[in-house]
Amino acid sequence: MTAKIIDGKEISSKTKEKLKQRVAELKERWITPGLAVVIVGEDPASQVYVRNKVKACEYVGIYSEKHALAEDTSEDELLKLIVSLNNNPKINGVLVQLSLPEHINEDKVLETISVKKDVDGLHLYNVGALVAGNTIFLPCTPFGIKVMLEEIGVDVEGAKAVVVGRSNIVGKPMAMLLLEMNATVTICTSRTRDLKFHTESADILIVATGRPKMITADMVKPGAVVIDVGINRTEEGKLVGDVDFDSVKEVAGHITPVPGGVGPMTITMLLANTVVSAERANKLS
Ligand code: NDP
Repeated sequence: MTAKIIDGKEISSKTKEKLKQRVAELKERWITPGLAVVIVGEDPASQVYVRNKVKACEYVGIYSEKHALAEDTSEDELLKLIVSLNNNPKINGVLVQLSLPEHINEDKVLETISVKKDVDGLHLYNVGALVAGNTIFLPCTPFGIKVMLEEIGVDVEGAKAVVVGRSNIVGKPMAMLLLEMNATVTICTSRTRDLKFHTESADILIVATGRPKMITADMVKPGAVVIDVGINRTEEGKLVGDVDFDSVKEVAGHITPVPGGVGPMTITMLLANTVVSAERANKLS
């Protein structure tokens, strides 16, 4: 069997076109959704992520501002900036690019972002809301995966879903979301005793470990939906996922490639959350 490739670029483009339309409708009411992106320091990968976010905003018509702060910016200065963005009516979403320099307390920063503008969905209140089944903003990567599963018509209800990885930005919220979608969910970590025992029974397998090609064909149930969140760079400079794509595609029913799978969806869902935030601020959703 050769798996159907889940084309993240295509689903992302389709989603962006719908968002463009919603932004145009908001503009007819003189409302422009606004996103503020804050970056501290010069990390090249973070710079690229921020640039791509600003570019994606432009494409769908969202107003964006980039706040680039020096590496030695104090925590206090950063918190003050966030409070001012929280109070700025032009801004519907505040995103602080992680990771932050060591002298800044990441938790404190995330807790300072207004719950209503937390378009990354990482504020403790939003995390709690997701656990309680009362989502305000879904974290962007799990949200993007949900849209992908819907787009390809996966029947999640009653399916056995296995999530490998338990980070706060991917693994844990993904597992909660699948539970919300009525899957039977198992979470595996680096401490799991027999990983293959779990993965080979998964109807839906979601992998977010940052370990290149760790999921091989023998670990996958024939016909399974395999979602690879990992982004790893090989010594030759090539991007690969956490799943051994070439072997697993011969077993799985559906599979996401890397690049071109989950990645393009993550930024798109940030735009979606910003549009929803603007609609809510104007009592339109
Ligand atoms: P983290 O490093 O925060 O978490 C990795 C998780 O994987 C941990 O829970 C760890 O377990 C688990 N793990 C590590 N090794 C194994 C193993 N051998 N078996 C089982 N579990 C294991 O990573 P992130 O969640 O932030 O990111 C994961 C990957 O996804 C990275 O490659 C990252 O670049 C990518 N990513 C991609 C995004 C996209 O848009 N496509 C967005 C975000 C991330 P333990 O907790 O026990 O240590």
